[in-house]
Amino acid sequence: MRKLSADDRSILSTRTKLVLGGRTPEEQFGFVNTPIYRGSTVLAPDVATLQDRNARFTYGTKGTPTTEALELAWSELAGAAGTVLAPSGLAAITLALLSCVKAGDHILVTDSAYRPTRNFCNGMLAKLGVETTYYDPQIGSDIGRLMRPNTTAVLTEAPGSQSFEMQDIPAIAEVAHAAGALVLMDNTWATPIFFPPHERGVDLAIEAGTKYLGGHSDLLLGLVSATERALPALRQTADLFAMCPGAEDVYLALRGLRTMELRLKEAERQGLALASWLEQRPEVHQVLHPALESCPGHHLWIRDFRGSSGLFSVVLKPVTQAAVAALLDSLALFGLGYSWGGYESLVIPFDCAPYRSATAWNPPGPTLRFQVGLEGIDDLKADLEQGFAKMRRVAGGE
Ligand SMILES: *Cc1c(COP(=O)(O)O)cnc(C)c1O
Repeated sequence: MRKLSADDRSILSTRTKLVLGGRTPEEQFGFVNTPIYRGSTVLAPDVATLQDRNARFTYGTKGTPTTEALELAWSELAGAAGTVLAPSGLAAITLALLSCVKAGDHILVTDSAYRPTRNFCNGMLAKLGVETTYYDPQIGSDIGRLMRPNTTAVLTEAPGSQSFEMQDIPAIAEVAHAAGALVLMDNTWATPIFFPPHERGVDLAIEAGTKYLGGHSDLLLGLVSATERALPALRQTADLFAMCPGAEDVYLALRGLRTMELRLKEAERQGLALASWLEQRPEVHQVLHPALESCPGHHLWIRDFRGSSGLFSVVLKPVTQAAVAALLDSLALFGLGYSWGGYESLVIPFDCAPYRSATAWNPPGPTLRFQVGLEGIDDLKADLEQGFAKMRRVAGGE
């Protein structure tokens, strides 16, 4: 087989990158997939090699052929200078944040961030002497007003966790960079396939591989891809913490990577089909799905994104909590569970109000988040149809 040069590879389509990424069959006796390397100790051939620690592999926490394969494939997909793996999506967020702060620094975090990100800022970064200011996700270039001389990082997430606000990432990045700060983005929803983070100004892009990369609700993994500028500090932080993921999970992620675009495209199709159906339901006040024209932030999605995934939220018309519980408890195909990005459908009730600090979250009715899986769309609609009937009965006091 002919080997492609780096230049040849850089112009390949996403689909081809997903197939080729990180694979080195010639180093694996011709086997297509890099296998699971389990290992702590790596033997050195001689004292000089042992002591200068410059070998490709030196110790299990510092990487194996399996982790290297995923890092290389992800960097190629994301258009990054390098990628660091972490044992969970949240661990990836904490590593990325810690790589750009020291005591006395200040960071800006979107009010729509994944809640455990807030908990880390409030509970750990505060203790380390790093101050967090939360900002309106829709702030755009007005973020400049919140920048201080000691602001070193701006964390973005689009769409917002559960609430689905979009953010003008390029505008925020331009202002942040002019002030010398790095831009972080939790890109789990779109993945680099639907939002190329580094092309849009993001320095550190976080992905919970637990979601669409794994795709089967059977692994935990995080990835941080970085630009040339942000990579050295990220690598150093990852090295100091040695928060390495398990070999088996990394292997499963590599396996998931090969079909990720196909699954994501199908999630997009399924998600849009259900979101459009829900938008027509009399029980629904609004569907929060950036690919729908009726969704605030739709113009940013059109401008900056290449697709939408299968996760969105719904604001119901005012109805009692008991009626919502009757709906959720009656569903047979939508599991009640956290996380998302797997092959199966899920739904959760949520409420952002208690922890928002820069913006108010007060929709007119109860809110639900849907993860649409790969089931037949008519089966999903029928399941919801009977659920809404139960909800109406409880709401009507029957
Ligand atoms: C799930 C999720 C994470 C965290 O991933 P874990 O692997 O569960 O720690 C981070 N960000 C977003 C937006 C998520 O949905």
